[in-house]
Amino acid sequence: MTTAAAPPFLPFALPDIGEEEIAEVVDTLRSGWVTTGPKAKRFERDFVAFLGDDTLQALAVNSATAGLHLALEAVGVGPGDEVITTTHTFTATAEVARYLGADVVLVDIDPATLCIDVAAVDAAITPRTKAVVPVHFAGLAADMTALLALARRHGLRVVEDAAHALPTTCGGQWVGTLGSDATVFSFYANKTITTGEGGMVVTRDEAIAKRIGVMRLHGMSRDAFDRFNTTVPSWYYEIVAPGYKYNLTDIAAALGLQQLRRAHAFQQRRAALAAQYDAALAGLPLVLPPQPAPGDVHAWHLYALRLADGAPIGRDALIAGLFAAGIGCSVHYIPLHLQPYWRDRYQLTPAQFPHSQHAYERSLSLPLYTRMNEADVQRVAAAVRQLLS
Ligand SMILES: *Cc1c(COP(=O)(O)O)cnc(C)c1O
Repeated sequence: MTTAAAPPFLPFALPDIGEEEIAEVVDTLRSGWVTTGPKAKRFERDFVAFLGDDTLQALAVNSATAGLHLALEAVGVGPGDEVITTTHTFTATAEVARYLGADVVLVDIDPATLCIDVAAVDAAITPRTKAVVPVHFAGLAADMTALLALARRHGLRVVEDAAHALPTTCGGQWVGTLGSDATVFSFYANKTITTGEGGMVVTRDEAIAKRIGVMRLHGMSRDAFDRFNTTVPSWYYEIVAPGYKYNLTDIAAALGLQQLRRAHAFQQRRAALAAQYDAALAGLPLVLPPQPAPGDVHAWHLYALRLADGAPIGRDALIAGLFAAGIGCSVHYIPLHLQPYWRDRYQLTPAQFPHSQHAYERSLSLPLYTRMNEADVQRVAAAVRQLLS
């Protein structure tokens, strides 16, 4: 008796770590300097060069969550303030405002882009509103022109959650250079570049950069690297605030240095795979992911599609069928208004977020990463087609 070998499981996400990354990490391990030091500094410099704007400052941190916390702290978010963000995101986007004692005001999304609805932000502004945190969902830029104009009219601070958006453009400008107060990128394992865990905050504001530089390492007035490279005695430091332990290690920065060099090639590969999905899934009862404006770059962190109304099976059955076929997938996101903490704290109901709720009930994200090939895309698309027939 012969049995056909089942095809290997196709994971939802995989990092793309090459020999250059491995060599850079080994070099760090042999160097004797494993925590924040010369490679973290170089990673920050390279990040500014990557964005092509030397009026920016980049601050490496050990996660985007840490970066969002530091950025909101640096723009002055505190008890009694309100921070407006999208319900259609990961909890990290919102939880950081709670760390600071501020309240979170969740708003609905634009159903076309799944990014924050700027009109809903406008309607949610109160005298307590301090800041707005947009998310560039899946790697497609939010409507930053309208959002920044609204924020300027109301004197609000803007911190971009750009965890999906490396590299992304908005009106031809790189996310990170758009004119918000700070932009925060993630290098978590499944993001478009990874350091295992890590993040980067970029800002043009000298005061914000200085504050984050201090608060990311215990509120010390200078970090360990500078301490050993100035004429100030090496043992001397001052504590100016009760800061955090959010610095990025040189081991992680070593990975980041080499990943960043490949970021444009990674984006091109992801965009090509997304286009292959678009072609292979055309004509099915699906709402395919929105495209960027002509000439703009989409980072394609996620390939998140939605079942069309009237599709023959539901989202949960489709995901179960794909897993049975050996294909990993995910859902982005279970909106925050459905999560017990956020729902109960702010007495939220799905009726307040009709677009996010509608998207959630029909959404699934297919595997999309640089180590996939076209045969993988065709295999996933064939499984989707079969389950929908
Ligand atoms: C991944 C992610 C984060 C958190 O990033 P970490 O680096 O894991 O802290 C925040 N917001 C969004 C939208 C994310 O996808």
